[in-house]
Amino acid sequence: MHARSLFIGGERIPALAGEAQTLHNPATGERIGTIPDCREDDVGRAVAAARKAADASDWPSLKPAERAGFVSALAAVVAGRGEDLARLVTTENGTPITRSMPAQGTRVPAIYSYFAELGARLEPEETRPASGTLVRRVPVGVAGLITPWNGPQSLLAFKLGAALVAGCTAVIKPAVETSLDALMLAECATEAGIPPGVLNVVTGGADAGQALVEHPGVDMIAFTGSAAVGRSIGAACGERLRPAVLELGGKSAALVLDDADLDHFRRQVISVCTPNTGQVCYSCTRILAPTSLYEEVVDAVVSAVREAPVGDPMDPAVVFGPVVSAGQRDRINAMIEAGKKEGASVAYGGSTAPGRTAGFFVDPTVFRDVHNRMSIAQQEIFGPVLSIIPYDSDEDAIRLANDTAYGLAGTVFGRDVARARRLARQFRTGTVGVNGYQVCLDAPFGGVKASGLGRELGPEGLAPYLQPQSIYGY
Ligand code: NAD
Repeated sequence: MHARSLFIGGERIPALAGEAQTLHNPATGERIGTIPDCREDDVGRAVAAARKAADASDWPSLKPAERAGFVSALAAVVAGRGEDLARLVTTENGTPITRSMPAQGTRVPAIYSYFAELGARLEPEETRPASGTLVRRVPVGVAGLITPWNGPQSLLAFKLGAALVAGCTAVIKPAVETSLDALMLAECATEAGIPPGVLNVVTGGADAGQALVEHPGVDMIAFTGSAAVGRSIGAACGERLRPAVLELGGKSAALVLDDADLDHFRRQVISVCTPNTGQVCYSCTRILAPTSLYEEVVDAVVSAVREAPVGDPMDPAVVFGPVVSAGQRDRINAMIEAGKKEGASVAYGGSTAPGRTAGFFVDPTVFRDVHNRMSIAQQEIFGPVLSIIPYDSDEDAIRLANDTAYGLAGTVFGRDVARARRLARQFRTGTVGVNGYQVCLDAPFGGVKASGLGRELGPEGLAPYLQPQSIYGY
């Protein structure tokens, strides 16, 4: 039995799971705690609590504006604990503190506030004038929320904020690496007055996730993670005709046009192409450079990466922290070796020798002379590895941008904004930035092709948690 390590029915309770998983600080390799590796029995207890709150409490029948009040309160509590959450996330996954502080202190509360505003304006019923039909928007019920480790609190808030204002109840299954911050969020929910059973947390890995996806008491799944796991969740949900929102990986392109302001581009390289040590789904890791400006683009990318300090993610000067785990470090290093073998040239970094003695660090690497069919240009690496690919014309650039299994994001850099916008419209992706990339809370975010199904954020991100019901002749 594990000491009070799950959050079920409004309480921290011990898990039934016998096995523990050990968590490590990726910056040092030191042990930071253990969490239970839950299976069907613990997942079943969490689903039962969520089911009870969905079926037998007044939560789903509160006015949306009342639930919005709880979500606003959650935003305030999370903001108040922003520094604790930021330090915890950085300790768990190595996110540089300069990124986790604003994420936890400002961004995550803003996500909850956004959904609270949407909820306050939500009309749960309307009458269609032509037929007099009453159209209701009914909460879907119990939502299983499965999240990855790379942006754990914001990716959870995309789902939980929507689920709560819609009137759903939730069972959260965070990634193993970031289980502790999910449990801290559950404490915030209690402090915000969210009723027992409305939000529950079970820990564990693939088995816990799978048990949640397959549980008959779950009405929908919202998942963010890899395309491979997304496919298996999509198949399991398809079998059960269970709705699923799937936010998966990416291999996005930053298209640098021949009239781009290269100083501006250089300043954007880290945030657009390799944020959070390259561990962000929308990272534009393929940089498409016109042959006429190829050397200048390579210089801009290399100088941006060279100037970005690598080290302890708690140090505010650091830009590249560790990657999340030893396994992830080894996978990234294998991709760097594959890039060299396939004939790309290393413009910066490229060492896969064990450098530091402690922690899971990778040498930030820039490849030049990359062909778009090389594995480094096709596979999601999820680390600080950039590929600069030459192109001849705007048409060639769009062909290369879209020549990928994924379709999550992209960015176009150019001084002629009308031309950049015209090219942005030709990306086969769910989102595109012009001269920068910033996910906006009021606009739908998500991907096409292997990047997933459905959208989060914006009113489109609330819709999956509401089921329409038409009552004719009302
Ligand atoms: P992952 O797919 O390995 O795991 C994601 C979550 O699913 C974890 O909680 C994991 O425990 C759980 N899981 C694993 N196997 C499962 C199974 N068979 N059934 C149910 N649940 C299962 O991904 P990760 O390594 O945690 O995260 C990195 C990936 O997430 C990258 O591919 C990245 O691009 C993607 N991502 C996408 C977005 C987006 O919004 N599109 C955002 C962030 C990350």
